[in-house]
Amino acid sequence: MSGYIDLHLHTTRSDGVLTPLELLEAVRSKKLEAFSITDHDSLKGYLEVCRSLNDNDPELLTGVELSTSKEDNDLHLLVYCFDPEHKRLCEALEDLRERRNQRAARIVSKLNELGKAISMNQIESIASGAAVGRPHIAQALLNNKMVQSFDEAFSRFIGRGKIAYIPKVNFEPEEAIKLGHEAGGVVIMAHPMLDKNDRYIEELVGAGLDGIEAYHPYHRPAQRNRLIETARRLGLLVSGGSDYHGREGRFGDIGSQKVPRECLTEIKNRSRYMRDMT
Ligand code: AMP
Ligand code: ZN
Ligand code: FE
Ligand code: FE
Repeated sequence: MSGYIDLHLHTTRSDGVLTPLELLEAVRSKKLEAFSITDHDSLKGYLEVCRSLNDNDPELLTGVELSTSKEDNDLHLLVYCFDPEHKRLCEALEDLRERRNQRAARIVSKLNELGKAISMNQIESIASGAAVGRPHIAQALLNNKMVQSFDEAFSRFIGRGKIAYIPKVNFEPEEAIKLGHEAGGVVIMAHPMLDKNDRYIEELVGAGLDGIEAYHPYHRPAQRNRLIETARRLGLLVSGGSDYHGREGRFGDIGSQKVPRECLTEIKNRSRYMRDMT
C-alpha cells in the first residue's frame, strides 16, 4: 500500500469520464489506502462502487460534492462519512439534480438563440442518467463540431460570465453544512483557492464547516501549505484529492496529490455517523 489516499474523484454519474466500475479498476491499480467518490450532487456512483468492492480493495468513504452558491460564486462542499440513506439528504440531492436540469434547459435555449442547434435530448443522452452539468453541454458542442475543444466551449460560451452562461440556483453553504451534519457527515470546503473561496473559510467555520481541501491540483504547493496552516490555526481538518474527471486539463490523475492517510483518520473520528456505527 502506498500510504496515500484520494478523497475527490468523479465518475460518469456526474461529469467524469470513467464509469463507477472503470474508476474502481483505476483506483485498484494505484494501490491507494482509501478513496472517496465525490460526484456532484449524486450518490449513484458511490453506491455502484460500494456494491462491487471486495476484501482487498482500499477503504471507500461515502462522499458527495454539493453545489452551493455564496454571493453569486460557486462554492463546492465535500461531505464525507455520512449516512447514504439519510432521507433529507437524498431528497436534497434529488432537488439539486432537478435544478440542474432546469438550468441546462435554459443554457440550451440560449445556445439555440445563438444558432447552435443542440437539444436537451442530446444533453440527456450524453449525461445518461447523471446529474446534468455544463461538461455535458460542452461535450455536445464538441460532438456537433461547434467548438474545436472542450475548453473552447467554456471559454466562448458556457464559462462563468460568457454569452450562454446561466448560474445554478443552489443551496446556501450554511444550509448544505447543516444538512451534511444532519446526515452524520463531515463537511469540507472543496478547492478553496478556486474562485477565491478561501475568503469565506472563517465565516463558514462559524456555520460549522469542519475542514478544508488543501491538497488539490489547482493549488500551488505554497497555497497548499498556507491552507494547511490556516486549518491548524482554526482547528479545521485537512483533506484532499485529485478531483479526477478523466479529462486533460485542470484536474489531476488518480492519487496524484499524495494526500497522507492521517487526514483520513481525523475525518473518520469527526464523523457522527461513523461513531454511531461502532
Ligand atoms: P456545473 O456543475 O454544471 O456548473 O459544471 C461545473 C463543472 O464544469 C466543474 O466541476 C468542472 O468539471 C467543469 N468546468 C467548469 N469550468 C470549466 C472550464 N473553464 N474548463 C473545463 N471544465 C470546466
Ligand atoms: Zn466536475
Ligand atoms: Fe468542485
Ligand atoms: Fe470535484
